[in-house]
Amino acid sequence: MKKIMIVFLIVCAACQKQEKADLVVVNATLYTVDDNFAVAEAFAVKDGKIVAVGSTDEIQKNYATLKTVDAEGKAVYPGFIDAHCHFLGLGLSEQKVNLRGTKSYDEVLQRLVAFQKEKNLSYITGRGWDQNDWEIKEFPTKEKLDEIFPETPVAITRVDGHALLANQAAIDLAGVTVNTKFSGGDILQNDGKLTGIFIDRPMRSIGAKIPAPNEKEITNALKDAEKICFDLGLTTVNDAGLAKESIELIDTLHKTGALKMRVYAMISANEQNLDYYLQKGISKTDRLNVRSFKMYGDGALGSRGAAMREEYSDKAGHFGALVNTVDFLQNSAKRIADSEFQMNTHAIGDSANHIMLQTYKEVLKGKKDRRWKIEHAQIVSQEDFELFDDIIPSIQPTHATSDMYWAEDRVGAERIKGGYAFKDLLNKYGKVALGTDFPVERVSPFLTFYAAVARKDLNNYPENGYQMENALSREETLKGMTIWAAYSNFEEHEKGSIEVGKFADFIILDQDIMKIEIDKVPNTKVLETFVNGEKVN
Ligand SMILES: [Zn+2]
Repeated sequence: MKKIMIVFLIVCAACQKQEKADLVVVNATLYTVDDNFAVAEAFAVKDGKIVAVGSTDEIQKNYATLKTVDAEGKAVYPGFIDAHCHFLGLGLSEQKVNLRGTKSYDEVLQRLVAFQKEKNLSYITGRGWDQNDWEIKEFPTKEKLDEIFPETPVAITRVDGHALLANQAAIDLAGVTVNTKFSGGDILQNDGKLTGIFIDRPMRSIGAKIPAPNEKEITNALKDAEKICFDLGLTTVNDAGLAKESIELIDTLHKTGALKMRVYAMISANEQNLDYYLQKGISKTDRLNVRSFKMYGDGALGSRGAAMREEYSDKAGHFGALVNTVDFLQNSAKRIADSEFQMNTHAIGDSANHIMLQTYKEVLKGKKDRRWKIEHAQIVSQEDFELFDDIIPSIQPTHATSDMYWAEDRVGAERIKGGYAFKDLLNKYGKVALGTDFPVERVSPFLTFYAAVARKDLNNYPENGYQMENALSREETLKGMTIWAAYSNFEEHEKGSIEVGKFADFIILDQDIMKIEIDKVPNTKVLETFVNGEKVN
């Protein structure tokens, strides 16, 4: 009896000192990404926030909890932030059937049936079939499609985007018959009947009748995108260009609990949105931050749409172009500068970068801590790097390894030195915000990490890395995907590191990307993803 009493007293003394936590994580290799880049072992979570970080012993001694996650020595990181992506765009692309790699028309039909069973769409679209991959290398005809989908319109595009197969329901909706006149391209016929194949220009008559996604479809798209992102360890996404309706829908879905991903919304900067949001002002919840505009400067380098100061090296007399007038860019910048909003401008060519950096400097004169960003900052003139002293470079390392095969053809040996110059940009501003631009690139943050550090593609090319003077260290890369990205969102006090007071957004990985051989990083698996202390994958 006496012995039991003693044990009871000891236990009781312990429980008096212990605070309650909702969750503790122990035995981790915990990269806190705090100011000292400290590595700890354990932390405690209460009400969605981190309340203590320390050794496993300390945390277990000080916190009582019903839920303990034993990381068994595995690496734990702050949840990753993608500083430039198209989250809704990813989800919407998931609402189209992927027909790449199909080996026969029958396989195309099978994929359509399986897809529709899952999605139940009112209009089925898809892309990626290529009859040259099939045994019968001829354009398919629509009969089987009409049998399977007599009422639901179907329009599926060939891999090159220059031909599509439509069923009768889609053709009826477009009002096309055997007698329809067209110029350019072709509408194929067989024995006086439409085969369903449209080539080039006439494809537009089908395309014009594909309805914009409704609210339910957008909701499904957001949830599909969320699942993909949580499985890859992303806990905040910066969506680079959202419509007002999408932003409002995301807010509603957050409030009902249907969507848990934290979203940093960049508002598409058209006249209408500028008028509306500049009047409304910035707004923020724990999961949705609406305080920035996404502006388009120029096009892309691959298609020679990026605006260059001198002609393209592989196309004489061609300079690319801005996609907005300088007037609109400057006036919008002035209006945004007079508000609390951040301005984020897509600038790829050295001319677009030059114009936007100059514009930013001009309108922000004397204004402190505005954290305006250049998105991509891909080709920058040597003399313009200076201007990044108080403008944040928001960059996507996988663009470097996707473009490296032809980028120098476009701009030549001299200008490419200021291309994908991540380290030079980091040295100027002191931070970089890292992202992917998915679904243009793949979603995985581990590919970002690998591209930033190794600057190689997944086939180990080039062997010694591409323009390695601009590689980032692992620590810089990790910061760019966490705390610096949070900073670029004005959120460094609430996320981006595992520190007391911050949201419990964290991930457990199967391998330690700070230590393993760099070539192994792309295959890293996320074992568990937590947002606000809640497991979400
Ligand atoms: Zn983008």
